[in-house]
Amino acid sequence: MQTDVANPRGHLSLRGLTKRFEGLTAVDHLDLDVAKGELVAFLGPSGCGKSTSLRMIAGLSQATSGTIAIGGRDVTNVPPYRRDIGLVFQSYALFPHMTVLKNVMFGLEMRKVSAAEAERRAREAIALVQLSGREDRRPAQLSGGQQQRVALARALVIQPSILLFDEPLSNLDAKLRDEMRAEIRDIQKRLAITSIFVTHDQVEALSMCDKVAVMNGGRLEQLGTPFELYERPATPFVASFVGRTN
Ligand code: ADP
Ligand code: MG
Repeated sequence: MQTDVANPRGHLSLRGLTKRFEGLTAVDHLDLDVAKGELVAFLGPSGCGKSTSLRMIAGLSQATSGTIAIGGRDVTNVPPYRRDIGLVFQSYALFPHMTVLKNVMFGLEMRKVSAAEAERRAREAIALVQLSGREDRRPAQLSGGQQQRVALARALVIQPSILLFDEPLSNLDAKLRDEMRAEIRDIQKRLAITSIFVTHDQVEALSMCDKVAVMNGGRLEQLGTPFELYERPATPFVASFVGRTN
């Protein structure tokens, strides 16, 4: 198992993580380590268990069995807001009646932070996603890409040890998607935040991420660098899924 002595806070470790719904095993004994600062893609076809895995890591869904540890701490039964995790979804889930600033400050709602400190941190996060000057706008006054940046700022404002993305760019057009991929990658690297990026898009996973976890039917088929998956696919499924581009 990899460790990071300098700052183990962001190390994520999944052991035998399993989720069963009635008559269906959505995630089947997932074993995975993500080192501090790494960006790992969960790649696989629709229904293979990517979102369910992410929801269990975030604490939004209770694991049927298995464990989740962050920075060596078992968080399997810890409530979501105590897990130190930032979330970015496909739907931005911004509050339409609140300004950009208030939306980002809302990320700190559950934490004991003074209003002044919350505003200072929110402005910092807004600057990080290059939206300074738009603090007083409402979501409807922003483009789709800008709204997704607000969602990213809201996830970053808590200084999370782990960032989770669930198909965050699926609603954007191709050009904007490329831009956002580069930007997310840049911020993730700069802050060295351990991140998982769920996508069904092979190109996105292979071009953005340090490693790719290929999933199929709730199981992890292979974890490897883009090069390894391409050159040495472990199963026929990986070979055909990674080789295919659409
Ligand atoms: P993905 O994100 O890879 O498309 P999901 O994790 O959303 O896949 O779903 C994995 C499987 O679990 C699918 O078969 C889906 O229908 C099923 N599933 C997801 N959530 C629920 C739920 N709340 N109740 C029952 N089945 C679910
Ligand atoms: Mg999904």
